[in-house]
Amino acid sequence: MASFDAIVIGAGQAGPSLANRLTGAGMSVAMIERHLFGGTCVNTGCMPTKTMVASAYAAHVARRAQDYGVVIDTPPRIDMNKVRDRAARVSANSRNGIESWLHGMPGCTVIKGHARFESSTVVNVDDQRLEAPRIFINVGGRASIPDFPGVNEVSYLTNTSILQLGSVPEHLVVVGGSYVGLEFAQMFRRFGAQVTVVEKGPRLVSREDEDVSTAIAGILQAEGIALRTGAECISLAPHAGGVEVHVDCREGSPSVRGSHVLLAVGRRPNTDDLGLDRAGVAVDSRGYIVVNDELQSSVSGIWAVGDCNGRGAFTHTAYNDYEIVAGNLLDGRHRRVSDRVPAYALYIDPPLGRTGMTEAQARASGKSLLIGTRPMTRVGRAIEKGETQGFMKVIVDAQTQRILGASILGTGGDEAIHGILDIMNAGVAYTTLRDAVPIHPTVSELIPTLLGELSPG
Ligand SMILES: Cc1cc2nc3c(=O)[nH]c(=O)nc-3n(C[C@H](O)[C@H](O)[C@H](O)COP(=O)(O)OP(=O)(O)OC[C@H]3O[C@@H](n4cnc5c(N)ncnc54)[C@H](O)[C@@H]3O)c2cc1C
Repeated sequence: MASFDAIVIGAGQAGPSLANRLTGAGMSVAMIERHLFGGTCVNTGCMPTKTMVASAYAAHVARRAQDYGVVIDTPPRIDMNKVRDRAARVSANSRNGIESWLHGMPGCTVIKGHARFESSTVVNVDDQRLEAPRIFINVGGRASIPDFPGVNEVSYLTNTSILQLGSVPEHLVVVGGSYVGLEFAQMFRRFGAQVTVVEKGPRLVSREDEDVSTAIAGILQAEGIALRTGAECISLAPHAGGVEVHVDCREGSPSVRGSHVLLAVGRRPNTDDLGLDRAGVAVDSRGYIVVNDELQSSVSGIWAVGDCNGRGAFTHTAYNDYEIVAGNLLDGRHRRVSDRVPAYALYIDPPLGRTGMTEAQARASGKSLLIGTRPMTRVGRAIEKGETQGFMKVIVDAQTQRILGASILGTGGDEAIHGILDIMNAGVAYTTLRDAVPIHPTVSELIPTLLGELSPG
């Protein structure tokens, strides 16, 4: 049995930084990783997808070049091998950096293999037994494969395998009209595939406000993406040219035939083969590790950070989990998950930047609201760039004058949202931002204007 001061399971977005802080505080740490260092974000999530979104954007702009007075005499072609290799290179650089950082970290022992709990203080990796009084679980999640009829009779793609494609699919059917699915849908449409999005719910990205969903649907349809929402009885079957996706039992064409199908219907935590029951660690009905506001599990000495605790589903929330745990354990701070202002982006083009409540959530809260909206057609920078799709919306609590939430769907929306996010984090009235002097010409410069034109909602 090898003894350590701490064991970290999973080298995702929280684990390596945590190992760095713990070893820096003089602890011996065993860092266990079963597959690729850097986890989902680096290898099969944020980094390769945003790299490929950039390739898709280049193709899109090249096709629109004449709108800008730029003459390209032949239509652009996509070299999918180069697109794929570029994304793989970006991932590999980051992965290798994390791996060599961990290997060179004084006090850190890197162990490759699948970790399983034997008890609340003992973890097995193959035939090794490791023990520690502190164990940090950072095992992340994976694509959830739905039990659609026929799913095992077809070959389907996930967010991992789609990154390996060396040619553009003739017709990609994306099952799942939410964050992951829509990024791939638009990207492959821009690479030249015919694309159909099949979504069970009545609208795309149903967690967002209806006006946001509608605008996103418009953006995608304008690029020729077919949408089949309200697809309540999805099933899959093989056909000569690929996969047939049955979408509806009642109306519309009953099925869509594609050469490839991507399943993007959600994620599940990697907690099912971790021996959590032997450690006594409680999970919820969907397998997420139950944690308190400081990310401690139901067992003293065991913490869960990142996607596996169900308290966030993003790289920045996983990283913030590390900061919370390290701050509380090593710096005598009292940081809590509930202090976090929610924020994220959807990386279609133009992107959606989001923070705080949706309008629907704000209305449901019963507060009296002030709401401002502005179409991107009235944002100078968007006009100048020739990218005027989308709109911005901000919701303010009329009584406290605090911003409750905002959506910026438009060019630069993923960056511009931070002005609002920062004001929310600062905990000051919206008037601070309304009266600020922004830089011209930017998308952000219209946020003070937006806040100066609020009306009761
Ligand atoms: C297609 C896609 C695009 C995304 N885009 C974005 C984005 O743009 N922005 C954003 O913020 N988020 C994005 N995300 C989400 C983001 O990738 C995750 O939220 C983030 O990676 C979570 O980090 P984590 O540390 O919790 O887990 P992970 O990064 O998943 O890391 C977990 C690690 O644990 C290892 N592991 C698991 N089980 C064991 C075990 N038993 N023993 C040893 N090791 C184990 C895994 O191999 C893995 O390396 C995206 C996700 C996907 C799928």
